[in-house]
Amino acid sequence: MSSDPIYVTRPSLPPLAEFISYLERIWENRILTNNGPFHQKFESALCEYLGVEHLSLFANGTLALVTALQTLRITGEVITTPYSFVATAHSLLWNGIKPVFVDIDPGTCNINPNAIEAAITPETTAIMPVHCYGNPCAVDRIQRIADTYGLKVIYDAAHAFGVRDDGGSVLRHGDLSVISFHATKVFNTFEGGAIVCSDAKTKQRIDYLKNFGFADEVTVMAPGINGKMSEVNAAFGLLQLDYIDMVLERRRVVESAYRDRLSGIKGIRLLPQREDVVGNSSYFPVFVTSDYRGGRDALYERLKAYGVHGRRYFYPLISSMPMYRSMPSAQPGRLPIAEMLSAQVLCLPIYPDLEGARVAEVCEIIEKSHG
Ligand SMILES: *Cc1c(COP(=O)(O)O)cnc(C)c1O
Repeated sequence: MSSDPIYVTRPSLPPLAEFISYLERIWENRILTNNGPFHQKFESALCEYLGVEHLSLFANGTLALVTALQTLRITGEVITTPYSFVATAHSLLWNGIKPVFVDIDPGTCNINPNAIEAAITPETTAIMPVHCYGNPCAVDRIQRIADTYGLKVIYDAAHAFGVRDDGGSVLRHGDLSVISFHATKVFNTFEGGAIVCSDAKTKQRIDYLKNFGFADEVTVMAPGINGKMSEVNAAFGLLQLDYIDMVLERRRVVESAYRDRLSGIKGIRLLPQREDVVGNSSYFPVFVTSDYRGGRDALYERLKAYGVHGRRYFYPLISSMPMYRSMPSAQPGRLPIAEMLSAQVLCLPIYPDLEGARVAEVCEIIEKSHG
C-alpha cells in the first residue's frame, strides 16, 4: 500500500493561472471590499447557481449565523441540535441566547422533529436545525411546529451547498439559511459564507448588519459587526463556480465507490440516501457499531496507522463541552441517540481528486480490520 497520507478532505482549487486575471482587475480598480464589483457579481452568480432569490455574502459562516439571529431579533431560547460543529451553538451564546438541545434522528443525524415540541417554553423564539452532512432536515414538520408556536426557523446549512429536494434548493426552507464556504466545505472561497433569505427588505437589513449597522453614510441603525467578504474571496468564489459541477460529480463517484464496497460489512452502518434528494456528497460518515471488532476508535486508530486520517464528526457532542454541559438540556441521558452516534461515527476521506485506488485501499483496511 502507498504511504502518502490521506486526509478527510482536500480543498479543491482552480488552476492558479486562471485566478491571475481576477487579481489584475482588483489591482486596476483598487476596490478591495465593501460591496465591490466582484462581490456584486458573485452574489448574483450564486443566487442563479443555487436557485435562490436573495443572498448576502459574509467573511465566514459563523459571522453569518451570528448575524442571521440578529436579523430576526432572536432572543431567549433557541432549540437546536448537539450533533453539529460547535459554531452552531456558539452563534447563540454570542447573542446572549440560551441553546436548548434536543435529540437527533438516527436515520439522518438531524434534529428529531418529534423532540422539538416538548422543548418549547415561553422563552422559545426560534429553532436552529442543521442539515447535517448535507442531508435535508424534516423541513415540513419543522415548519408546521414553527407556525403553530410562532417560532422562527434558521437553518445552519453549512453542509448543504447545492443540495436540492423535489421543490428546489434546500436553502429556500425556513426564514433564513446560512451556508459556509470554509476551506473544508464542498464549495470554498478560502473563508466565506452567506445568508440566504426570501425578500429584498430582509437582505437589506442583513447587509446593514454585516457592515457595522451602516444604513447610509451618517446613519447607524444597529450595533452591527464587520462580516463583509473581501473582493479577493468574492473573485475567487466566482472562479470556483466554474468548477463546482465537476467537483460535485467527482464527489458522487467517490461516494458511490464507498457505498458499493462498504454496504455489506457487518458492524458498519451507512446513512440511507433519499430518492427525492440530490445530495452533495460533502461527507462520508460510517457508523461503527458493537458488531465491529474493537469499535469506532480502534478502526480510527488503525486507519491512521495506514496514513488514512478520518475525522470523528461530530465527536465530542457540543452539549458535552464545558460552556454547555451544565445546561439541563445537555444532560447525556436526554440525548441518547446523539450520544450513541457520536461514539460510532467516523467520516472517511472524500474529495474530488481522491482516486478510486485510494478509496479501495481505505475499504480494504476496513474489511481486514474486522478480522
Ligand atoms: C463549518 C461549519 C460552520 C461554520 O462555518 P465557518 O465558515 O467555518 O465559520 C457552522 N456550522 C456547521 C455545521 C459547520 O460545519
